[in-house]
Amino acid sequence: MRITEHVAWLNVNGLNPILVLAGGENILVDACLPGQFELLKAAIEAEGIPIEKLTRLVFTHQDMDHIGCVNELAAAVPGLKIYAHEGETPYLDGTKIPVKLAARLEKLDEMSEGDRAGVLKMKEGYEARKIRFEGALKDGEGFPGAAGFKIVHTPGHTPGHACVYVEGDRLLMTGDAMNLGAEGELLGPNPVYTKDMAQALDSLKKLADLKIETLICYHGGLFRGEFQPALKKILG
Ligand SMILES: [Zn+2]
Repeated sequence: MRITEHVAWLNVNGLNPILVLAGGENILVDACLPGQFELLKAAIEAEGIPIEKLTRLVFTHQDMDHIGCVNELAAAVPGLKIYAHEGETPYLDGTKIPVKLAARLEKLDEMSEGDRAGVLKMKEGYEARKIRFEGALKDGEGFPGAAGFKIVHTPGHTPGHACVYVEGDRLLMTGDAMNLGAEGELLGPNPVYTKDMAQALDSLKKLADLKIETLICYHGGLFRGEFQPALKKILG
């Protein structure tokens, strides 16, 4: 669904990637879970964009529910350029072990057979998705011609986590830096999945200076309230 002039909000089985369509660019932000490619493709094409017309793919961070369909996208879109924050790319290009995987590998000996199998499957999942990035973005970098597309480095959930800000549309896609609650209320990062909670909350302070009228949480979707008061509440 086109939610602002240049941004389409995609809902793929409860996950919420966005598509930024501006300045000749068709930029997808985040790529769902493994196995969801057909759903993701259908959601993109429902916006009138044939999948092969995507120009760039930007990840908010390294978790598998954000990068799952990267291989299918790269295969379907010749010349697709892929990006993440410079603090995140090493975890996805094979240089470093992804954060959640590393934490689980450390505890492998204490795990049940079933949990261990899950961790090994996760490891295989990352090994099968070594990403060739076009570039690593720094805080504030992006594609200005595409309605002022830029990333805002918001470390904490993972070291290179970034939100995407489309300045021209006053829209923020939060990645996992914030989530929507069951009542549609805006919540901070989920402590269960967040590596460094203090840092993650501190990162949110950066958003206080941005003009944000439309906010999409990757987990939860569109926030219908006013952003700045909701942010103040989270920061306490
Ligand atoms: Zn996530």
